Amino acid sequence: STAIVLFRRDLRLADNPALAAACAAHAQVLPVYVHAPGEDGAWPAGAASRWWLHHSLAALDAQLRTQHATLHLRQGDTLGQLRELIRHSGAGAVYWNRLYEPASIARDTRIKSALREEGVEVHSHNAALWCEPWTIATQQGDPYRVFTPYWRNLRPQLPSSEPLPEPALPGWRVLPGGLPLEALGLLPRIPWDAGLAGAWQPGEHGAHGQLEIFADDAIGDYAHARDLPARQGTSRLSPHLHAGEISPRQIHAELDRRARGMDARRRPDIEPYLRELGWREFAHHLLFHFPQTPTDNFNPRFAVFRWEPRDAAALERWQRGRTGIPLVDAGMRELWHTGWMHNRVRMVAASFLTKNLRQHWQHGARWFWDTLVDADLANNTLGWQWVAGCGADAAPYFRVFNPVTQAKKFDPDGIYLRRWLPELADAATALLHEPWKDPALLMRSGYPAPMVDLAVSRQDALDAYKRRD
Ligand code: FAD
Repeated sequence: STAIVLFRRDLRLADNPALAAACAAHAQVLPVYVHAPGEDGAWPAGAASRWWLHHSLAALDAQLRTQHATLHLRQGDTLGQLRELIRHSGAGAVYWNRLYEPASIARDTRIKSALREEGVEVHSHNAALWCEPWTIATQQGDPYRVFTPYWRNLRPQLPSSEPLPEPALPGWRVLPGGLPLEALGLLPRIPWDAGLAGAWQPGEHGAHGQLEIFADDAIGDYAHARDLPARQGTSRLSPHLHAGEISPRQIHAELDRRARGMDARRRPDIEPYLRELGWREFAHHLLFHFPQTPTDNFNPRFAVFRWEPRDAAALERWQRGRTGIPLVDAGMRELWHTGWMHNRVRMVAASFLTKNLRQHWQHGARWFWDTLVDADLANNTLGWQWVAGCGADAAPYFRVFNPVTQAKKFDPDGIYLRRWLPELADAATALLHEPWKDPALLMRSGYPAPMVDLAVSRQDALDAYKRRD
């Protein structure tokens, strides 16, 4: 019998439960990807994510070719495309791995019932999470809203089974109607993507290469170095995880395997890292149970909070890294050039936008959505609501990050600032953190004066918060 495996954000062959199940049960397996941005509701992939997707699909196809198969690409309404493929191939079953965004859930539910009514089997699996959102609940059976008790519940339940190996594909054949990758139009028309290409290797091999680097060099010092933006102290696996080129189970198994092979004195503590992957699970838990949160404040007390009206000029200065606040500008330029920003700097840049400029967090979330290679509806929503102070288990609104103090603490020698603000590269470190203290430096370098006074704008934000009640 023949089965279709519908790839989505699970662009890997190993530890892919839908692919493994199809290969085990059918004589012929057809790997398919349907590009259907219209089915992602208000959140079709942004420009950086589309760039990633293009290269990740190319990598998956190359891997399938080593097994003498190819990835069949289509575009348009997923159900219609599947029906056509079923007609051409005589497939009696469709396999996929589950997604958790509200629009994807609605679409998949609709496709599943339509195909089943037409006599086609549909099998869905979990490839993306340690534990799916509905499997973790409080003692009262409610979803969690606070991370620490959520993690206390989840941690002992992390799956201990070995990841699935890459399956040998059974039979495969060419079907009519497949598109060339270029036809999906994922790459930018104006070639701004050189920085991305220099920074990343999308695809399953790239993901495992990145994990190797992290496990060899950085895991041992993660708890400390994860806060230092100048260092490669974090795993940089976020875009690979988002595209499903690697699974949390594979990461956990690999880190465990290495730790077991070391003597106790040299064994790294992997718990702080697992906890961050726990935040990713928590973000998916929240998005699933509170599907309105990509647009609505999680905390309803913020419904009456008055953000400043959208200020296009201020937003543009923030987006381009021209606010005059070095750590914010360095982060925003890192984002623009590489499609990624260090987590500590994401928090500082988001705090500056939502507190010092008092722009709605949605404006920031949208910009990140378009520019991040790891743009992920669950993680991005959680990150923005957390910083803005209106999220589940958020930092309290009145905790405003001070970008100068943060830079002095986490980039004391200014290595990160100099990397992304070349016009200030030869400034003395003390001035690099506060260049406005030397007007001649600003004049010479062309670096802008701060667009707001940090202390005054912080106080304004706190006053606005007080007026909310
Ligand atoms: P590591 O430190 O190596 O962590 C490993 C993995 O854990 C990450 O790849 C990620 O999957 C997960 N993780 C780590 N921190 C978080 C977190 N705070 N929340 C959820 N998952 C986490 N992350 C995204 O993947 N996509 C986003 O769109 C996104 N938007 C964000 C927006 C804001 C305003 C903030 C403050 C954070 C955002 N994050 C987002 C979370 C975090 O910044 C990134 O996951 C992290 O920087 C990715 O780098 P890494 O893979 O080296 O992380």
